[in-house]
Amino acid sequence: MRKKQFKAESKKLLDMMVNSIYTNREIFLRELISNASDALDKLYFRSLTDNTVLLSREEYEIRLIPDKQNRTLTVTDNGCGMTAEEMEENLGTIARSGSLDFKSENKDENVEIIGQFGVGFYSAFMVSSTVTVRSRKFGADCAFCWESEGAEGYTLTECEKDGFGTEIVLQLKEDTEQDKYSEFLDEYTLRHLVKKYSDYIRYPIRMQVSERVKKEDSDEYEEQLVDRTLNSMVPLWRKNKNEIEDGEYNAFYKDKFFDFTDPLRVIHTKTEGQATYDALLFIPARAPFDYYSKNYEKGLALYSNGVMITEKCADLLPDCFSFVKGLVDSADLSLNISREMLQQDHQLKLIAKTVEKKIKNELEKMLSGDREKYEEFWKTFGIQIKFGIYADYGMKKDELKDLVLFTSSNEKKQVTLKEYRERMGEEQKSIYYACGESVGLIEALPQLETVTGKGFEVLYLTDAVDEFALMTMQEYDGKKFVNICGDGLDVDTGEAGELVKAKNETEKELLAFLKETLGDSIGSVRFTDKLQKHLVCLTSEGAISVDMQKNLANAPGNDGIKATTVLEINVSHPIADKLVALHGEDKDLLAKYARILLGEARLIGGLTPEDPAAFAADLTSLMV
Ligand code: ADP
Repeated sequence: MRKKQFKAESKKLLDMMVNSIYTNREIFLRELISNASDALDKLYFRSLTDNTVLLSREEYEIRLIPDKQNRTLTVTDNGCGMTAEEMEENLGTIARSGSLDFKSENKDENVEIIGQFGVGFYSAFMVSSTVTVRSRKFGADCAFCWESEGAEGYTLTECEKDGFGTEIVLQLKEDTEQDKYSEFLDEYTLRHLVKKYSDYIRYPIRMQVSERVKKEDSDEYEEQLVDRTLNSMVPLWRKNKNEIEDGEYNAFYKDKFFDFTDPLRVIHTKTEGQATYDALLFIPARAPFDYYSKNYEKGLALYSNGVMITEKCADLLPDCFSFVKGLVDSADLSLNISREMLQQDHQLKLIAKTVEKKIKNELEKMLSGDREKYEEFWKTFGIQIKFGIYADYGMKKDELKDLVLFTSSNEKKQVTLKEYRERMGEEQKSIYYACGESVGLIEALPQLETVTGKGFEVLYLTDAVDEFALMTMQEYDGKKFVNICGDGLDVDTGEAGELVKAKNETEKELLAFLKETLGDSIGSVRFTDKLQKHLVCLTSEGAISVDMQKNLANAPGNDGIKATTVLEINVSHPIADKLVALHGEDKDLLAKYARILLGEARLIGGLTPEDPAAFAADLTSLMV
């Protein structure tokens, strides 16, 4: 029999399919099942107006028949079927897609037909050496058989077929070292693939499976073939929220996202408008074990009308919300879209934007409505949001600023910037913060008492990213962020915090001597009157704080960046007079004092002395 040739574009596509543009071949099953589901949709749709369709809704089915002996996998449906012309048209051409035609003919009706480009069917050639399609159009007397071994062309002949609908027989390719096509005959694999990709197809996908069944009137068991429906048919996210119990959400989450803890929060939304989709999102209670590692991949599962397109679409989630798990199901997306195309997809971008907004709103709701839960969330994922503020030159800083919590000097509670701002009195010019590895270390900072002594609140920054996040924001509601250990401290209107000028020539010489002794270890040395009990403190000048320097030093390739530090000595402390005296009497001892003072200032500021052994030796020498 003479072979008919495929149209040029189809031939190209077929070549691509045979050489597999999709990396995961297993999706061929999803494609065939969704075609079958479309065909059932079409017949069902017709039944609404045509009373010759005598099928009741329950009778529509898709069936998988693996045949190990003959190495064939058959997919059948009792849907609308195709005439010879339709087979020629639909399976011989890609330019015309049957689904598209049907859609444009029935614009006003609410029928959901998946697939818009028509590459789906050809994916069968990724796993088959021969594809045979037997189909009988609903209401037709005869059936036709379309058969092809790939790009070489196809044959179309009349054939026998019971009942209407379509039967697609895949003669699987021979197994090779790398590719075991026979796995698609395996009951377990087929079950798994249906669950994975087509669980929510709204018609039953059935298969005969062997199960151990108890024999009648006996205690013995035997293997029997039983008919099983492999898919669950109704997607949870398509159900109405008020029909779903918390337990169902939790079970779905744990099963799908491999967690054994209930999620902290569930977001279930239906969105219509520019982007139409259902979304079911979860905020986990715990960070996945690999969350803070490079291996973690963010993303949401993406479905088109209940059929999974991809398990993890990274573009649907911004980095700041990478901890969110869940899925998006949209009728606006083409099923055949590849990963590369997804990135360009306009519709997808719209969805991503609204998803981001929804997550943000939910977090805000949690913050205002369930503070305890939010603080729990913050402990686990807050750092990611702070990174989000700092990332991409602060692109998202305004969006995220009200989600942030810091420990505050106000009863060591977690506070938002808004709460801090609202508590600020008239006389307070800035929002104050202090950095340190722990709350305890921050509370020991000499500068703290200066600020809290005035009755001002101080934010305690204990994560490395914190100060970078604040520096990215610069200000909140018109108030600048000021590091209490920096040179911009402005707690008083007068001289406080400023350099206390040396009163006389002796003091000037003394400070110059101290600086000379300490050399490059310090930017400058000065007296201050801002300290109360404490003798010394370490301050930084300019944009880089001591803590930033510390944190940057941990980042590879960044150790060149240094803060300009200032050693400040409490002018009203008795030691100040001692130093003046020593300046006249014993320069060697004065030099030792200078080194010890700097060591102390560094220790209090959370740094080690530059030369710990020398520091210890200096101290010891004072004791003996
Ligand atoms: P798409 O489904 O995106 O249109 P396919 O290449 O998967 O593209 O299928 C092409 C066309 O072939 C479909 O639009 C449909 O008209 C027809 N078709 C495929 N499978 C079946 C089937 N099981 N029953 C009826 N028609 C089918």
